[in-house]
Amino acid sequence: MGTASDIKLIDENGLRIDGRSPTELRPIKIETDVLDRADGSAFIEWGGNKILVAVYGPREAYPKHTQDIEKAIIKARYNMAAFSVDERKRPGPDRRSIEISKVISEALSNAVMVEQFPRAQIDVFIEVLQADAGTRIAGLTAASVALASAGIPMRDLVVGCAAGKVDGQIVLDLGKEEDNFGEADLPMGILAKSGKVVLMQMDGDLSAEEFDKATELILDAVKRINEIQREALAGKFVSLALERGGE
Ligand code: ADP
Repeated sequence: MGTASDIKLIDENGLRIDGRSPTELRPIKIETDVLDRADGSAFIEWGGNKILVAVYGPREAYPKHTQDIEKAIIKARYNMAAFSVDERKRPGPDRRSIEISKVISEALSNAVMVEQFPRAQIDVFIEVLQADAGTRIAGLTAASVALASAGIPMRDLVVGCAAGKVDGQIVLDLGKEEDNFGEADLPMGILAKSGKVVLMQMDGDLSAEEFDKATELILDAVKRINEIQREALAGKFVSLALERGGE
């Protein structure tokens, strides 16, 4: 969160720097099965973010000492391509990507029926090709779809969404300038059906009331995002049925 009192993020009509209203999401598009050699895959465009997710597994966890005799372990790896940001990003893992990988792995473990696959591992590769703020929530949203498209049994889909504070106002889904110059950013992962929170992080500061307002905006948006996830998957299952029908 920067401090740039001279940058106006909300205009006199209450509209944001990209013309959105405070409760409006950036455009979101999700496509499944974009890769032939992964067990499941998804591509998400969320505002200026472009993220590809590939799922492999479940397969026997390796090295063996990482196995859990009761359940599968979900290994998400969040990676930003060198060309995904304005200044070339140094390739390879850094503290930020390790942290994001960990919280996304934990969030997804709450949605997948991990107990059905003892000693297994499920790899989730999240490749950020173009970053424009909110990559962890967009990556999480797409990862959940990629897991479902792999046919991995899931209790629920996880939806990622953020809200934050810019120019003193609570707004949904911060864009890049809002993320840079706003006062707070609150990314969350929510289970679509149960509404349970499975990921929560915060940058900046919010009062208790502001926090409640931000959560309310997120929970409302979760329904809209989940609809897009389900449409992406419905297309897949229709085409699968057609393939079978043609056999
Ligand atoms: P998120 O992408 O989940 O919002 P951050 O708040 O850490 O995560 O990052 C916000 C945005 O800042 C990213 O989406 C990306 O556009 C930019 N960013 C993050 N890391 C880097 C980096 N190493 N170099 C350049 N830009 C970055």
